[in-house]
Amino acid sequence: MEIQKTDVLVVGAGIMSATLASMLKQLNPEFSITMVERLDSIAAESTSGWNNAGTGHAAYCELNYTSEQSDGSIEIAKALKINRAFETTMQFWSFLVEQGALPSPENFINPTPHMSFVWGEDNVRFLKNRFETLTQHAQFADMEYSEDKDTLSQWMPLIMEGRDPNQKVAATRVPYGSDVNFSAVTRYLIEHLNTHDDFELVLNTDVVDLKPDVDGLWRIEMHNNQTDQKRVLNAGFVFLGAGGGALPLLQKSGVNEVLGYGGFPVSGQWLVCKTPEVVERHWGKVYGKASIGSPPMSVPHLDTRIIDGQKALLFGPFAGFSTKFLIQGSWLDLFKSIRFSNLLPMIAVALSNFSLIKYLVKEVLQSRSSHLAALREYFPNAQDKDWTLAHAGQRVQIIKKDPNKIGKLEFGTEVVYTKDKTLSALLGASPGASVVVPAMIELLEACFPEKLAENAQWRIKLKEMIESQGYPKGCLSRDDSLLKRVRERNLNILKLTPKS
Ligand SMILES: Cc1cc2nc3c(=O)[nH]c(=O)nc-3n(C[C@H](O)[C@H](O)[C@H](O)COP(=O)(O)OP(=O)(O)OC[C@H]3O[C@@H](n4cnc5c(N)ncnc54)[C@H](O)[C@@H]3O)c2cc1C
Repeated sequence: MEIQKTDVLVVGAGIMSATLASMLKQLNPEFSITMVERLDSIAAESTSGWNNAGTGHAAYCELNYTSEQSDGSIEIAKALKINRAFETTMQFWSFLVEQGALPSPENFINPTPHMSFVWGEDNVRFLKNRFETLTQHAQFADMEYSEDKDTLSQWMPLIMEGRDPNQKVAATRVPYGSDVNFSAVTRYLIEHLNTHDDFELVLNTDVVDLKPDVDGLWRIEMHNNQTDQKRVLNAGFVFLGAGGGALPLLQKSGVNEVLGYGGFPVSGQWLVCKTPEVVERHWGKVYGKASIGSPPMSVPHLDTRIIDGQKALLFGPFAGFSTKFLIQGSWLDLFKSIRFSNLLPMIAVALSNFSLIKYLVKEVLQSRSSHLAALREYFPNAQDKDWTLAHAGQRVQIIKKDPNKIGKLEFGTEVVYTKDKTLSALLGASPGASVVVPAMIELLEACFPEKLAENAQWRIKLKEMIESQGYPKGCLSRDDSLLKRVRERNLNILKLTPKS
């Protein structure tokens, strides 16, 4: 069999692989890039518009990014970091819009106010404290706070109508939050990549094995699910942007760096409403407080969604447990991922996260009426007939070794790469697609350190694409005039300045 060669092979046609391939093509237009996807279409797993919430996570509304400390103070370091990360992602998108590589922004991102809504004395006190702490910082200076019911009725009429008038409520609002169709971003990025001769998109094809080969190359074995044909490629650099499929592929590669890693799959469902009269009356993403014992990604929210021109409301997610690592994966995924090296960490996580497992089992057993009851806590007058239950994407949380607890469960994402820097992968799920650009920059810096050294050609190009890359890490939290410039540019180019 003839073995073809490619400089870069990215596995999976989701937002991560599409972004990395686009960045690499900008940094080195000479690279030949091959993208391999097991399904017959791109962005059909977690990146699909209907499988995620499309929140441009900027920590404006997500209360789980700001925890209350035992002394009553609010920890905001994570919120500042996530906010910087999304601003970085938007800088890259703004650059691509200006370059014509992405179309007019309303095709993939729309202004959608980000609001947090709580009820009850304790929660109102927490929200006010959070607001006062965050607004001391330039990144959150435009956040508004209100306990006034008339103001809240203007911000979120569906949430206020039919509510107990004696209930103490409060909300915060950032007018320039966003709803992102990550599936559209991916599609446009791949369409643009396809305009280059040395980019190849291979659909209906599973990467079934990968092993180190001669000359420092990787030997990638692929199987076409439609023709049943096998194909082998040699690649100089491989990125496993395979979502839930990344861990099994890393394991197949046999590299030491994967030892001890395991996966904890969490499935999800939404209630979706497409009734125009209801949809038109809500504009924003309204995030509440997660119930005690629930995982961070199950914070309830009522969201405006605009997906390929179609408007809808989405409420959820309702978490669940499934042994699949991908929606279109196998029930055996979890069991097949168990190795001698990750068995102890996995057992340790199962034993020390009993309340999480109990919570997930309870969620799986919820009936339609309990889903609707949860919705009515936010939207008291919701009508059963307007809402249908739909599946959300599958997340695989990271399990890894821990010197103290043997194994720990992580809810973030992690870039894993081999010592020789020729194989890399993105594991984990949250905060997800919003941090795609900083995550891919981290990966590039790890795998191509010389090319990204100070004053090296790639570094100069990176600064051209993303202004904040010309400054030290964390600069957007320290340099208010840079933040102002970057934010104004992002809001203008991506047309996120709020409508009245
Ligand atoms: C319920 C839910 C809500 C979310 N909400 C948000 C949100 O509001 N905001 C946000 O920023 N993020 C959110 N996320 C996270 C976001 O959706 C993901 O981080 C992002 O889509 C992951 O992209 P990806 O490219 O890594 O993976 P995916 O989109 O899953 O793509 C991986 C691709 O790899 C393919 N693949 C797998 N194995 C193989 C193989 N062996 N060979 C070939 N192809 C393979 C798969 O078919 C798939 O197409 C949410 C996720 C979920 C599940």
